[in-house]
Amino acid sequence: MRYYSLNRQAATVDFDAATVAGQAPDGGLYFPETIPRFPAGFVEQLPQLAPAEVAFTVLQPYVGSTIPATELGRICEETVSFPFPVVPVTARISALELFHGPTLAFKDVGARFMSRCLGYFSRHETRPVTVLVATSGDTGGAVASGFLGVPGVEVVILYPSGRVSPVQEQQLTALGQNIRALEVQGNFDDCQRLVKQAFRDPELLARRRFTSANSINVARWLPQQVYYCYGVAQTLAATNQPPVVAVPSGNFGNLCAGLLAYVSGLPVAHFLAACNANAAVPAYLTSGQYAARPAVPTLSNAMDVGDPSNFGRILELFRHEYPVIRDLLSGYSVSDADTSATIRRVHEHTGYLLDPHGAVAYFALEDYLSQQPEARGIFLETAHPVKFPAAVEPAIGQPVPVPTELQALLRQPKRSTLLAPEYEALRTYLLETA
Ligand SMILES: *Cc1c(COP(=O)(O)O)cnc(C)c1O
Repeated sequence: MRYYSLNRQAATVDFDAATVAGQAPDGGLYFPETIPRFPAGFVEQLPQLAPAEVAFTVLQPYVGSTIPATELGRICEETVSFPFPVVPVTARISALELFHGPTLAFKDVGARFMSRCLGYFSRHETRPVTVLVATSGDTGGAVASGFLGVPGVEVVILYPSGRVSPVQEQQLTALGQNIRALEVQGNFDDCQRLVKQAFRDPELLARRRFTSANSINVARWLPQQVYYCYGVAQTLAATNQPPVVAVPSGNFGNLCAGLLAYVSGLPVAHFLAACNANAAVPAYLTSGQYAARPAVPTLSNAMDVGDPSNFGRILELFRHEYPVIRDLLSGYSVSDADTSATIRRVHEHTGYLLDPHGAVAYFALEDYLSQQPEARGIFLETAHPVKFPAAVEPAIGQPVPVPTELQALLRQPKRSTLLAPEYEALRTYLLETA
């Protein structure tokens, strides 16, 4: 499989080069030259297949010969080594729970696959590689956990001081080993700006080998198809009917992976792009016109994105045919008030505890199903509610119980280095620790 840049000013590359580079040299996102179809009988067999087998079948055509089959098999096993249960919430709505991985968020899937692919592709490197990543919360934890203990890889995470939740902060700062956390005295945009500047600094690049763990990396994007296959298969087995799938969306990598699986042959009745107040894509779905907007802060802060990177991939997947996209995908913009009320109401009526991102998708799905009396749906529950207590606890009026797996982590000492939000500070730190 070859990958081309959506900006069309760079050469095509194989999966290994696309993964190592992250972004094409012309600044574009990589996109596969062809979309493979799932093998005949795959969808029918899905309910009997283990997640690692599903992952191997889905991902092998994208990886091609860059990773040998036995190695890819091992990577797949390690990528989806935790459950993806479909949990009924009401008679017509189920949650596809994606938070049973090590950092309790769906980003574990992409981060684990990418970290292991990068580990394989740098197996002959003698110079250690530094993964430099800015995070608003979930990405950093998933990337850190994915690379924890991987030889020859060092991870430096920049996060905004005081703006991540206590669980997220522990997941960034308490791991130790090859993971280092920089607590930036600024916001997420500052963190991202510093990282971008480091990637353009020739002196720094001469001293260390850097790679990004950017969310647009194909090795993070593509494996997200796997849990759609798994979730849809479980729903098909139970209801014999393709479900409506609601996806809480920010940068749109997750939804775009679901659409990719659909184009490859996964039966889905309709997709919902469930957004918070950051509604550039829902506005496009209504009007056919796309306009980036400044991001606004919300309760579902992992989706506070004003100009989603992966929107270009969605357009490309459907050859920029607006009517096709509009018929498959409906957009929702859900307010914080509705998000909070949904968490409270669903908890009260069903006992199910949503996180704010899942709540946005739940709200959208419930609304869509109210006009489709025969349809059933699943929503992606992208994180455990314990990661977002500031949004969840006021809504339900009680604390979120901490899962036992997490209690040990919360007792670990926090280790971070405070950093002023200026590039010189980051540069000095990286040069001194090189
Ligand atoms: C990152 C994230 C999202 C948004 O996913 P995208 O792929 O960026 O659309 C949704 N929910 C949670 C909990 C996240 O961490």
